[in-house]
Amino acid sequence: MVLAYAAPFFVLSIAVEWMLVRAGKLSGTYETKDALTSMLMGFGNLLSDITMGFISLGVLLWAWQFRLFDWGVSLPIILLALIAQDFLYYWKHRAAHRVRWLWTAHVVHHSSEYYNLSTALRQPWNNHFTGFVLLSTPLVFLGVHPLLLGFVAALNLLYQYWIHTEAIDRLPSWFEAVFNTPSHHRAHHGTNPQYLDSNYAGILIIWDKMFGTFVPEARDEKVTYGLVQNVKTFNPIKIAFNEMWGAIKDVCQPNLSLLQRLKYLFAPPGWSHDGSRQSSARIKADHIAKNPHLSGTPGLPDLP
Ligand SMILES: [Zn+2]
Ligand SMILES: [Zn+2]
Repeated sequence: MVLAYAAPFFVLSIAVEWMLVRAGKLSGTYETKDALTSMLMGFGNLLSDITMGFISLGVLLWAWQFRLFDWGVSLPIILLALIAQDFLYYWKHRAAHRVRWLWTAHVVHHSSEYYNLSTALRQPWNNHFTGFVLLSTPLVFLGVHPLLLGFVAALNLLYQYWIHTEAIDRLPSWFEAVFNTPSHHRAHHGTNPQYLDSNYAGILIIWDKMFGTFVPEARDEKVTYGLVQNVKTFNPIKIAFNEMWGAIKDVCQPNLSLLQRLKYLFAPPGWSHDGSRQSSARIKADHIAKNPHLSGTPGLPDLP
């Protein structure tokens, strides 16, 4: 609901950024079809929440009966829930990049080859069908009420809206050190080998630093936005279901073992039974093998 109220603000701020970028007053790039597609994806995401959100809410309300604690709702508890949810968001987001079945939804957010405020609205339509919500149940078991959880999750997404911009270069170093920023999140949207699988943060970037996934945006490595294999379409339905359809086709191929079929769903994206595809680990390893002078660059492995 928080996000529905924010919709007019989203549209207005996108219009302003768009005009200023066109006028050459802000850095960034807008492509009309791309931005309109992103906004349509956002609208579809809102519709899917309104019509299917009860599935995820139902799971969380069901989990609520097994709670170990009941903290009630007060300002300190809301703040604690915000931080706890941000920590959980980090792991959920990481899983969404590393487990192909979850990636079939999150891939949508990464499908634009541009990076501006409209990109933030490019969101999946099939989130309530992947079981992603199950990853949120630990917080409910720990006593965060599902409605409070939904509220702080919305605040988290709201925070991430403004960081989808090229108009802000770097913020003061203390802020860059603690919070997720346009610079950190630009790297997250990059397909450059060093930026793949980096900066999963929602609000606080400290989780990436704690768990070894932080990669700073480098001055000498301009971010190339999008996917390793771009969808090359502005058709919202294709964007919404392309990867899920691909996963289903992979699983249903003839002559695969059960384990191979399961890996097409749960191994990292890019896994294939015959090694014909490129996982991010392989892309990084190939890149460092071809460019040994990059050894030591954050986000790239050590030389073999
Ligand atoms: Zn992501
Ligand atoms: Zn993003």
